[in-house]
Amino acid sequence: MKDYTLIATAYNKEARIYAATSTNLVQEAHEIHKTWPTASAALGRFLTASAMMSLMYKDDEHLTLKIEGEGPLKYLLAEAHNGIVRGDIGNPEVYLKYHSGPKAGKLNVGMAVGAGLLTVTKDLNMRQPFTSSTPLVSGEIGDDFTYYFTTSEQTPSAVGVGVLVNVDNSILVSGGFIVQLLPSASEQTISSLEKALTKISSVTDLMQEGKKPEDLIHILASGTEEILDKREIKYHCPCSKEGFASSLSYLDNKTLEELIHEDHGAEINCHFCGKKYHFSENDLKDIINNK
Ligand SMILES: [Zn+2]
Repeated sequence: MKDYTLIATAYNKEARIYAATSTNLVQEAHEIHKTWPTASAALGRFLTASAMMSLMYKDDEHLTLKIEGEGPLKYLLAEAHNGIVRGDIGNPEVYLKYHSGPKAGKLNVGMAVGAGLLTVTKDLNMRQPFTSSTPLVSGEIGDDFTYYFTTSEQTPSAVGVGVLVNVDNSILVSGGFIVQLLPSASEQTISSLEKALTKISSVTDLMQEGKKPEDLIHILASGTEEILDKREIKYHCPCSKEGFASSLSYLDNKTLEELIHEDHGAEINCHFCGKKYHFSENDLKDIINNK
């Protein structure tokens, strides 16, 4: 089954709900970045929230999201557009669990991320990119997006994202939701929604029971939902040799000459998908000549 996000309106159009299944997308990110379990959970939650968020904007809007934290993961990066995401992680080899308390045995994403900032840049093509940052609340990703939407975009929201990792480190299930209240939301809607949210203590527990985005929305909407759209989400990197050639053309000629005469070519690794691109001496000479 392909990954998708359902978009619904609920509570007399006073709330908007996004719910996603993202197991394949997160598995792909895990394979590309060779993430250990806690890194898989952090990157997977981040990419799932980013993919859903990218569906809130118009087709030509691109989002770049970054979490920079003091924890061992260092950073998480996502680029998202129309439900298509690609991402990167500072340190994929992180495996931390809670040792005590109610979450004992579960992956400790908050500690892996640490204190830091969530930064969102919206690139609207024509206009100047708009950037906004909020401090991380817990580093657990869902809480951090909730705080971002509520403070930076003045949209009261609730975000839940989760990833379960198999014993062989593959991704068992991944998914999440974003609920946003419109300014017209009544007190009654707010209290119904708060009650509904208590029924979803763990997205991944529900998904493991076989629940789908349709079911998540039904619970969150207390049955008032009206499905507006179903959109595919996926991990995809559109990188190309031409794209990297154009990046290389921004280097000054002296640096390019050094690559030709000292290194006899250049090899570039895409951070988002791991693909390697080789530029021969002739490729580099062409780049200089075409400037
Ligand atoms: Zn790539």
